[in-house]
Amino acid sequence: MTKILRTVAELRQQVHAWKADGLKVAMVPTMGALHHAHMSLVTHARTIGHADRIVVTIFVNPTQFGPNEDFDKYPRQEQQDVALLKEHKVDILYAPAVSEMYPPGFATTVQVSGLTSALCGASRPGHFDGVSTVVTKLLLQGLPDCAVFGEKDYQQLAVIRQSARDLDIPVDILGAPLIRDADGLATSSRNVYLSESERQTALLIPRTLQHITTTLEQGPNALCENVIAKARRTLQEGGIHNIHYLDIRDAQTLENITRVHNPARVFIAAQVGTTRLIDNMAINPASV
Ligand code: AMP
Repeated sequence: MTKILRTVAELRQQVHAWKADGLKVAMVPTMGALHHAHMSLVTHARTIGHADRIVVTIFVNPTQFGPNEDFDKYPRQEQQDVALLKEHKVDILYAPAVSEMYPPGFATTVQVSGLTSALCGASRPGHFDGVSTVVTKLLLQGLPDCAVFGEKDYQQLAVIRQSARDLDIPVDILGAPLIRDADGLATSSRNVYLSESERQTALLIPRTLQHITTTLEQGPNALCENVIAKARRTLQEGGIHNIHYLDIRDAQTLENITRVHNPARVFIAAQVGTTRLIDNMAINPASV
């Protein structure tokens, strides 16, 4: 049985009661249109987070979308989502209205500097302010023991870890592995926007990341910029012309690197048709 809560007061009361009974509570924040990758975060909360009770949140947060982005057309399908949550024995769906999260007079923004200056922070101005603010609110509203975020949004995970640490939010932030569909495309609620032929084109993204990863793991002296330049050409020849970024960075600090001597990560955001897709992959040089 999945119970639906809409208000901060109900959420706070429920989590508080569970914790008073000695139960460990995990939160899994999402924007809905739930799929198997979201459910892998629920499993992660149970196995790695040792959670006894799970709260999944669904909130399509207006403040993290830019003016020309897909806020209005973002898929909203609560009934289907509830069915999936029931199947996975999720205890609570917390799905507040926009007016509950941002009542009239709301005036505070959480802004993380440094980590947000590159990648999605550069290509989606203001995006991470919206994310940090809403996630801070969700964590403080529920005060779960832990909260789980996917490495699909690797930079977002780093930003949330930073803000939770800086603001002394007493919630363990757990990262869960990126999940792919059977054909290799990173699972995403936005994949429903892709036509069949766009999806075929999009498959070049994970294939190119895999090629970059293999090249750098086998030849750690290669210059990242050369590998990236070649990969850009491959993507363009395959029909992906609008590359917002394709970048190799330190896996920990997200700083730019010249060669891969420590664990690194390759990041991409690119548009296929009208759909913006992101993906990333670990690069672990043999010497580490
Ligand atoms: P979203 O609903 O897309 O905002 O995602 C909600 C949470 O699910 C975020 O922590 C995402 O990183 C995570 N997530 C979404 N897609 C994936 C995926 N393919 N693999 C791992 N985590 C994911």
